[in-house]
Amino acid sequence: MAHDESAFPWEIGVFDAHCHPTDTMASIASIPAMTAATLTVMATRGEDQELVRQTAEAHVDRVMPCFGWHPWFSHQIIDDSIEQPEQDAEQQKRTHYKAVLTPCPEDDEAFIQCLPQPKPLSTLISETRERLLSFPNALVGEIGLDKSFRLPSAWTAEDLDGRNGQVTPGSREGRRLSPYKVKLDHQRTVLKAQLRLAGELARAVSVHSVQAHGAIFELFKELWAGHERVVISRREREKQQDAEGAVSEDEADTTKSATGKQQPFPPRICLHSYSGPVEPLRQFLHKANPSDVYFSFSSVINFTGSSASSRRVSDVIDALPEDRVLVESDLHTAGPQMDELLEQAARQICEIRGWDLRRGVQQLADNWRRFVFG
Ligand SMILES: [Zn+2]
Repeated sequence: MAHDESAFPWEIGVFDAHCHPTDTMASIASIPAMTAATLTVMATRGEDQELVRQTAEAHVDRVMPCFGWHPWFSHQIIDDSIEQPEQDAEQQKRTHYKAVLTPCPEDDEAFIQCLPQPKPLSTLISETRERLLSFPNALVGEIGLDKSFRLPSAWTAEDLDGRNGQVTPGSREGRRLSPYKVKLDHQRTVLKAQLRLAGELARAVSVHSVQAHGAIFELFKELWAGHERVVISRREREKQQDAEGAVSEDEADTTKSATGKQQPFPPRICLHSYSGPVEPLRQFLHKANPSDVYFSFSSVINFTGSSASSRRVSDVIDALPEDRVLVESDLHTAGPQMDELLEQAARQICEIRGWDLRRGVQQLADNWRRFVFG
């Protein structure tokens, strides 16, 4: 395929559907000078929720805030909808981590010691609701399921010495990995509560899924149950019209999206950095699904892997409907590098789809607006 060498049409508007600039707060000052139009900025954990809020307030036209709790930090949430044994805070913490981690950190007091006092799920949801309500279009994110990640080990003196003061705390920060994972059931509980909140406020969500596309789909299906859109084929519609004279208001309405309505599921979902095969796309895109599912791609994750995996991503991008593709940087620093990665990813998507740059960048911009605003 011929490479399009023409100048990149930034003036059309490039929208980063998923990024983490608040992980490097010193980079936030560079946002006004960026060529990208708007950054969809994720929150992931206790340390960055407030930073995302402040960043969105300081850069109203350039930042679309998202508030959510990432699966990598889901162990820090305790499900207080189920009855907890009468225990003091220390005991409760120990019982909680032994219940949600696998393998169980039975005798690993040093590891448990290093983990924070868990936050009740009901508190997370009410705090997130408050934040969402102060930004009428804010999204829920980053949320999701991850079957492969392991928690970082407890901090060593050496780790602490080598710590980068520029990086927002709370992430792995180069630590070695422990053997512990968060049980999928617990991740699901934390995800489900946040998907329901997004449904309550009719907000879009940005979803992380690693080796968990099946489990994610099962959860969506569970939330969608009983709310499926009625899909009427043209032939059926014509038959109905013949029989009744015209389609009634109600029936015409059944295929409309759930935009603006309170539902137990979000109206729009983005599977960010989708790395799965082509086959499951069909189920995510089925016309009866009452949520519209989008897919976003970054050059960092999707185009730098092995040739087999980048071929798979190309196949996925090629197979998607043109109105469901988004572009993202997934970068942890704002500034020129973020612009560069967005341009690279957008150019690659255009090349795969056979779009000329102006048409492709316009399509990606339209898709982002529809994804965020409905
Ligand atoms: Zn992310």
